[in-house]
Amino acid sequence: MISKLHLITYGCQMNEYDSERVAGLLKAQQYELTDRADDADLILLNTCAIRERAEDKVYSQLGALKHLKRSRPHVIIGVMGCMAQLQQGKIQERAPYVDLVFGSPAIARVGELVARVKAGRRPLLETGEAPLVKITAKPESADPLRAFVTVMEGCEKHCTFCVVPTTRGRERSHAPEVICDEIRALAASGCREVTLLGQTVNAYGRDLTPATDLAELLERVNAIDGIERIRFTTSNPYNLTTRLIRAIRDVPKVVEYLHLPVQSGSDRVLERMNRGYTQARYLELIAELKETVPEIALGTDIIVGFPGETDEDFARTVAVVEQVRYDNVFAFRYSRRPGTPAAGMPDQVPDQVKAARNTEILAAAGRVAAERSARLRGRVMDVLVDGPSRRNPADASGRTRCNRVVNFDAGGASLRGAVLPVRITEALPHSLRGELAGVGQRGVS
Ligand code: SAM
Repeated sequence: MISKLHLITYGCQMNEYDSERVAGLLKAQQYELTDRADDADLILLNTCAIRERAEDKVYSQLGALKHLKRSRPHVIIGVMGCMAQLQQGKIQERAPYVDLVFGSPAIARVGELVARVKAGRRPLLETGEAPLVKITAKPESADPLRAFVTVMEGCEKHCTFCVVPTTRGRERSHAPEVICDEIRALAASGCREVTLLGQTVNAYGRDLTPATDLAELLERVNAIDGIERIRFTTSNPYNLTTRLIRAIRDVPKVVEYLHLPVQSGSDRVLERMNRGYTQARYLELIAELKETVPEIALGTDIIVGFPGETDEDFARTVAVVEQVRYDNVFAFRYSRRPGTPAAGMPDQVPDQVKAARNTEILAAAGRVAAERSARLRGRVMDVLVDGPSRRNPADASGRTRCNRVVNFDAGGASLRGAVLPVRITEALPHSLRGELAGVGQRGVS
């Protein structure tokens, strides 16, 4: 008999990837996805623990599910992912109606865990270590055109603000053959763009025997027919090598975009964060990137209000945003995470100061991004078309290699999956507008 699974995913792209695997694995156990919680036999929350607010959202969702469980007691409620790994038994203490808690290492066994809960109707907690397994199952609803592919798990950087080493364990890379098999299968089912995922993706391969690296993996993925574009995220400045920078230039399908979290522009703060680089070193890497790949677009993550951050420290971060000229800035207010060294540091910054700095950094980032967009007017860029635009079905919508959304008049044709040259006519705050350019006028995008 078919049962219904409702999956709620919080957090990063890796969680989105994990959720797809879970839905794929449970398909084999006769579970099909539903987007309605009140229709489901099994509800799974795939959680994030990176900031306190992410955890608050999960608890408030669990609060809402309590009523549902009261009226439909047969429904199984599970919490998986980073918060499960971090909080373990505390989740069922606070929400005793949660039947199942399991961390990322147990994902491969989700079918068995659900069956055990069903058979015993006893709460289950599974947060131990487990061997690294590559799961490739996915649900029918997954986007066939673009896919995430996890290439490594865990992180060993031990930034003092971050829970990831606790929630996802040490760095473990999947073998290149296993990754390439997965991507070949994706390409065969229509995928044109892959994003290789890892918490420190540019540390890929050093734990393998024989050791390899991300540059080599990019070469191998480049050779897979059908794939048009390769992205990878997230890179850590500490592990960024000249070899990888050259691979961005030389491997044709690798896009000219790099997300390189700086976190802060102040050496004092960077040291207390244990980031392993200085502002000068970071800017040196940016200079090398721009020199090697002049068209590169850059993104970053910034934490405002890290313990001890002064106005002067913060001004240095704003200066970095203005100097680097990012296309994309993600700013986060520092959030105290249990068990991390920074949570116990003196001079925690008041919430209102964090909020003001967040507003200021986003304003600076917005000014820079608007200038970066304006310079694209008149250029012809390759656009991978997703299909008709949601706002206006006569338009097609797609993305440039640098991940900018472009809408253009397609006369109602779907064009899904095509890569077409589009001349940019207008730079809007969140997207670009363009018109189809003649074939043969294609330029760097
Ligand atoms: N592993 C990547 C790195 O260190 O460069 C980033 C992964 S993390 C999931 C995404 C971003 O969340 C980080 O780059 C950081 O800016 C932010 N973040 C992590 N811990 C945080 C905390 N305790 N408070 C606020 N933001 C945090």
